[in-house]
Amino acid sequence: MRFFRSCFLAAAMLAGGLCAAAPGTADPPPAAPSIRLATLRAARPLPPIRFLLTFDDGPDAGEDGSTPLILRQLADNPVTPGIKALFFVQTAHPRRGGGEAGKEQMHATCKAGHRLAVHSGLPDGHVSHTRLAPEELEASLLSGEADIIEQCRGAAQLVRPPNWAYDDAVQAVYRKLGLAMLMSDVNARDGKIYGWHISLRRRSHINSELAQVKVALSEQRLAPAGGVVPVVVSFHDTNDYTASHMTEYLQILVEEARDNGLALADPPFYTDGRQAERAARVRALSGVYARESWP
Ligand SMILES: [Zn+2]
Repeated sequence: MRFFRSCFLAAAMLAGGLCAAAPGTADPPPAAPSIRLATLRAARPLPPIRFLLTFDDGPDAGEDGSTPLILRQLADNPVTPGIKALFFVQTAHPRRGGGEAGKEQMHATCKAGHRLAVHSGLPDGHVSHTRLAPEELEASLLSGEADIIEQCRGAAQLVRPPNWAYDDAVQAVYRKLGLAMLMSDVNARDGKIYGWHISLRRRSHINSELAQVKVALSEQRLAPAGGVVPVVVSFHDTNDYTASHMTEYLQILVEEARDNGLALADPPFYTDGRQAERAARVRALSGVYARESWP
């Protein structure tokens, strides 16, 4: 009887060798539950990841603007042609979406299949949502959404707070409007406000960010969507260095993911804007990321 119980256990642990042993063979001492769990966890392969690219602060419009330069590389690159991304825009600042060129750029970005969501709906632009009264924040988000809808068929039901600053009152307004707050797993740290405009260390930085992703994946902390785990990467499309090195960033992400032993989905980047938005909402509503602090 003891033998059969051991055999059942062993089968459950996918360690079938004991079952083949002749009756009368001495049972090995049962493994402690924590060791068995650790063995099972170690044996489970990591789920495939798909990079979900997000860009903050734009649009940066015009013939030589950073946003169109990024869009051209997302559309045509040697890694995954036709990448679709999420753009968290400043809809009313005169040098962003508030000017004529900015409006045209928002229209062009949506037309290319990307999804737009509000970063700021204020003419003053990049103001932390924590500095606004709840009714002021609500009005600015609704106005930002209306600005996007004017240029696009719809706005993504997502939001990213300027300066990554939020509190309970801010989140209550987001919830009231049905907006899911999306942070990120991998931060390119290319926001000019962080003083890392030109980064020669970007490869090692991305590598260490992806090492954190691997830990989070092995602990099953990142919510899957559609059979893959979307890994949210944040850039700033107002950064001209980011814009002129976008293709290189795509290659670095893929290469450093492999270097970390991560399995990449096929394709490794989202190529459908709606699918990217759905995946972003799953991650946003779970509220758990590989990073535990921002930026
Ligand atoms: Zn920002």
